[in-house]
Amino acid sequence: MMNKVGKIVFRKINRISPSQFYSMKNCAYKSLLAEAFEKKPLLPVSPNAYFGTVLHKMLELIAKGVTSNEDDFNKVFDEQVKLQEENLKQQGYDFFIPLQKNVKDFGMKKILLKKHLKNVAEKETVSNGIKYSSEKWFESKDKLIAGKIDLVIEDEQQAEIIDFKTGAITQDVLDDDGEIFSDIKEEYKEQLKLYAYLYFETNGKFPTQLSLVDLAKQKFTFDFKESECNIIFEKAKELLKTTNESISSEKFVANPSETNCKYCLYRPACSFFLKHLETDSSFNDVSGSIINVVKYQNGNVSVFLASGDRKFTVTSFPEEKYDELNDSRNKIISIFNLRKEATEFVYSAIKTTMIYE
Ligand code: SF4
Repeated sequence: MMNKVGKIVFRKINRISPSQFYSMKNCAYKSLLAEAFEKKPLLPVSPNAYFGTVLHKMLELIAKGVTSNEDDFNKVFDEQVKLQEENLKQQGYDFFIPLQKNVKDFGMKKILLKKHLKNVAEKETVSNGIKYSSEKWFESKDKLIAGKIDLVIEDEQQAEIIDFKTGAITQDVLDDDGEIFSDIKEEYKEQLKLYAYLYFETNGKFPTQLSLVDLAKQKFTFDFKESECNIIFEKAKELLKTTNESISSEKFVANPSETNCKYCLYRPACSFFLKHLETDSSFNDVSGSIINVVKYQNGNVSVFLASGDRKFTVTSFPEEKYDELNDSRNKIISIFNLRKEATEFVYSAIKTTMIYE
């Protein structure tokens, strides 16, 4: 069965989390589509994202002291992996199971994660008078911005907000002289400044330190000003307001680009993206009307699409797809998650490929 998007019923976004803010800033329409589809993606999420959920959950449990030794760790880790695999099965993405075989650096990340065990245990024993709170919910007084902070470490004088990241925290940037240096990603800085503001609204004072910790236990801390946190908070609220207003005015703000759309899981429902695809061939997606469908002796099926002056060939569909595709000649379809072949305008279907009409 070909997938259909159906009528999109936009719904007001009641609140956003600091981690959603950056995504909304890049493309507000994506946040509206996510809300309209109740955060159920229209394309398969990468298996790395499911494993990322496992890693994050483990970091949280270690921080809480729930898993404090290696035996506990191994048991809980396996349980969490199983849980995500169940999740994948339910969504029909069996092809990502077992995660261990489908995720890059599975073993290495597990080893890195284990190193956090010792870290927390050491800290807890030497930390009289210091309060650790993990996965603590903070929200603004107007409840428009809210989220869970991974770890807050506080004593009488100081408070540190820590966010765990399972991927790279820094990226290379160019300074004013054109020199390359490594800096914390701007989206993470903004996210933490928003958390700092939420902490302030709850406690009446700002945290003294904002930090990010990666899987290798490297800690990155950056300077911030209270005024910056205030400004980001106001910006986030304003963005939420204008995004919600765009539902009634139907003046949607979308920002199609390679960086924004490449990993957007709502591409099939995005008219802005589909329009963009007409002139940009950098994506692994194609859209056009079916002009021919051919079944070869080995059972493989190829589809030929036309869009304006461009013609696309998509090979390697399984035999069972033939009738449906052949019956859809002249219909406009979009095919997502393809592999680009060496020849221009030639693609092949892979296990995560999805067709929408
Ligand atoms: S596909 Fe691109 S333009 Fe469309 S919602 Fe997603 S990020 Fe925005």
